[in-house]
Formats: sequence, C-alpha cells, structure tokens
Amino acid sequence: MGPEYSAGFVIRVLWFVFRKSRTTSQWHNAVMNEERVAPMQALKGREGTHMLINEIYASIQGESTHAGRPCVFVRTTTCNLRCTYCDTAYAFTQGEAVDYESVLAKATSFGIKLIEITGGEPLLQPLVSRLARDLLARGFEVLCETSGALDITLLPEGVKSIVDIKTPGSGEEAANDYGNLKRLRPHDEVKFVLCSRADYEWARDLVRREKLHERTTVLFSCAFKQVEPADLARWINEDRLPVRLNLQLHKYIWPPTKRGV
Ligand code: SF4
Repeated sequence: MGPEYSAGFVIRVLWFVFRKSRTTSQWHNAVMNEERVAPMQALKGREGTHMLINEIYASIQGESTHAGRPCVFVRTTTCNLRCTYCDTAYAFTQGEAVDYESVLAKATSFGIKLIEITGGEPLLQPLVSRLARDLLARGFEVLCETSGALDITLLPEGVKSIVDIKTPGSGEEAANDYGNLKRLRPHDEVKFVLCSRADYEWARDLVRREKLHERTTVLFSCAFKQVEPADLARWINEDRLPVRLNLQLHKYIWPPTKRGV
C-alpha cells in the first residue's frame, strides 16, 4: 500500500484519535503516529460500511479472568502504538477492508457466546462501537482488549474492557490515557504487562496510589521471556499485592508465535 492518502482522511483519523485523547502528550503522540495509522486509508470512503480486519477465528481465551473459556477473536488491523513486546505486530498492516455485515456474520457463526474484539487497536475502527452493540443485542458476551491510549467510553456499557496501562518498559508510557482509570466499569479489568522488576514496582505503586484493586480486577502479566512467572508470583506475594497473576495461556498451549489460536 502506497503512502499517498488524502489530507482529509489523515485529518479525520487524527481528529478521531485527538477526540479520544485527553492530554497534550497524547495529541503529540497522535500526530507522531500518522505513519502508524496509515493503513486506515484502506477504509477511505467506506468508514461507515467496512472494518479493517486482520483475522476472525475461534480459540481459547488466554488472558484475563476469562482465561480458559472458548472465545471468538475479531482482530482488527492497525495500532497507533509500538510496544516493545508486541506479539501481534503482523496486525499493524496486514488485513483487509471487510464489509460490516460480513464481520458480524462471521463473528457470530462459531456457536461460541464469548467474543473478544482485539487488535491492533480496535478503538481506531469507526464501526467498533456498532459491532459491540450489535453483538450485545444478539446475546453475546463481548470483551474488548484495548491499549489504554483511547477513551474506553466509546464502547457500549455492556462491553467488558480489558484496558492496558503501559509501563515504562513498553516504550509507550506517554500514550496512557489516565482518564480511563475514572471511566472503568465494575466488569472491566486493567492489565499491566511487565518487562522488569522496575516495571513491577512502577505498576505496584500506581495500583496502591490509585487504589485500583478496590475498583476493578488488576492483572499483572509477564512480558514473555522477559519476566519469569515464578519471579512475578514471588514479588506479588512478598508485597501482599491484591492483584491477579495473568499468564498468556495460549503461549503455553501452542508455540508462542503460532497465529490463529
Ligand atoms: S497496544 Fe497492543 S497491538 Fe498495539 S503495539 Fe502495543 S501490544 Fe501491540
């Protein structure tokens, strides 16, 4: 895909990100990330009828309090962040514009009542809110895994958001929209992916300062091969920290780089 896209389209994408951002640093981030969201140009003129989709498949939920449950994954294309540990970098650019009705039909075709909308960054998709609302209306339980850089209230109330808080080790700490901490609903969860002991201490101090555990489920996850689960379990226990150790179950069941599982 070439780099040529209309100024109008870029302005719409950046304005969308800006509307969902609350700080100057995020606005700066959005502007700096123009190249990152360039694949969105594939939706040009079709923002109200299509979604940019990387893959839709059925598997086992690997993370959060829903780990172990059969789940359908709707993975969207493109992300405005570049976390150091990202294991779905293929979703930055790979994918195609799929008409909305086909997305809805495929997601609901597996006979599985739990559906996660993920990415990439799903909140960049203009139709994500409609998709979530339509799935809820059809009786599905809907999860949305999001980076924490965009306003989660874009999603309907019934959606269970798994909201990342980016640590210094992620390289994307400046992208955090901390306003999301006030927007969390009781069924939402927050997730920290930890790259080191320093990341752990940063996250621990934030949890305590914000009393996050009193408002929501807090997940502490290891950046794969960077923090050992046994070490993280020990740190949590030593600090008597009221958080939940979150392992990426799918990476223990299947080869860590295997896709579509
Ligand atoms: S927010 Fe998620 S998809 Fe985007 S770069 Fe970070 S880990 Fe990857």
